[in-house]
Amino acid sequence: SVVVTGASGHLGRLVVERLLETGVPAAGIAAVVRDKDKAADLASRGIELRIADYGDPETLAGAFRSGDRVLLISGNEVGRRVPQHTAVVSAARAAGVAQLAYTGVLGGPEADFELAAEHKVTEQAILDSGLPYTFLRNGWYTENYTEQLAPVLEHGAVVASAGEGRIASATRADYAAAAAAVLTGEGHLGRAYELSGDTAWSMAEYAAEVAKQSGKEIAHRNVPAGTHLEILTGAGVPAPFAAILVDVDRAVERGLLARGDGDLSRLIGRPTTPLAETVAAALAHR
Ligand code: NDP
Repeated sequence: SVVVTGASGHLGRLVVERLLETGVPAAGIAAVVRDKDKAADLASRGIELRIADYGDPETLAGAFRSGDRVLLISGNEVGRRVPQHTAVVSAARAAGVAQLAYTGVLGGPEADFELAAEHKVTEQAILDSGLPYTFLRNGWYTENYTEQLAPVLEHGAVVASAGEGRIASATRADYAAAAAAVLTGEGHLGRAYELSGDTAWSMAEYAAEVAKQSGKEIAHRNVPAGTHLEILTGAGVPAPFAAILVDVDRAVERGLLARGDGDLSRLIGRPTTPLAETVAAALAHR
């Protein structure tokens, strides 16, 4: 089977949709989820559910079969992901899967910011396992920004500490299409893809795009990291997560999320979704 972990999440659902669209029959897809109820709609479409929690190795024992082509979608419990992901890798190895694709981070071993650390260790664990692998090193989702439009419109400002740094973002659907392509195509084993949007944009350009489309005045307010941290925690973001967000902006400023290798558009056979289109969709769904 083609197996998608994290299939109840945003990216996982899009991967499953894409697999179906490209002609993989529902009976050839398995979804690894920890919460059966959250994936009831997938089951009702004929997709096999395999219930497992990354944090519970016993449950992972039944998650994979020999010959499966597996997408491990990185978990969302930052700080716990090393033991979780290594448990998934061990289970995949024990089962003898034919491919383990993993959603890491743009830059792979060279990405030296906080959120990248767990991805690097996971990639190394996959290499150490000896399994046939494909690394999908995802750049930033455009939705990380467009899902946060409410405060931007309310305050008339994009507040950030990324300076003039640029982000080569793409949509989750773009990354999902790449994942589906490597799970169903040939020639992807032992390869690492640096996946990012075709066009990088700065926070100032993002503010200008939102202003243009919303008809409101939207400033780009660049602040020092310490001020950014205070603003985020003041708005109720838990301190450890706020620190991670500020660290991301530092990475953006250093250009770590700007690289445009073109791997994503090549894999999906079309240009990546432009920022303007994602902003328009977000404004339309408010
Ligand atoms: P979501 O939070 O929507 O989905 C995460 C998925 O992982 C969910 O299905 C979740 O299950 C599953 N999961 C998390 N922990 C476990 C666990 N212990 N056992 C089993 N399943 C687990 O994130 P997205 O789909 O938007 O993104 C996918 C991943 O990409 C994120 O988890 C994160 O690692 C990374 N990411 C990348 C970003 C980028 O810009 N490139 C931005 C944000 C995240 P459940 O539905 O039960 O919670």
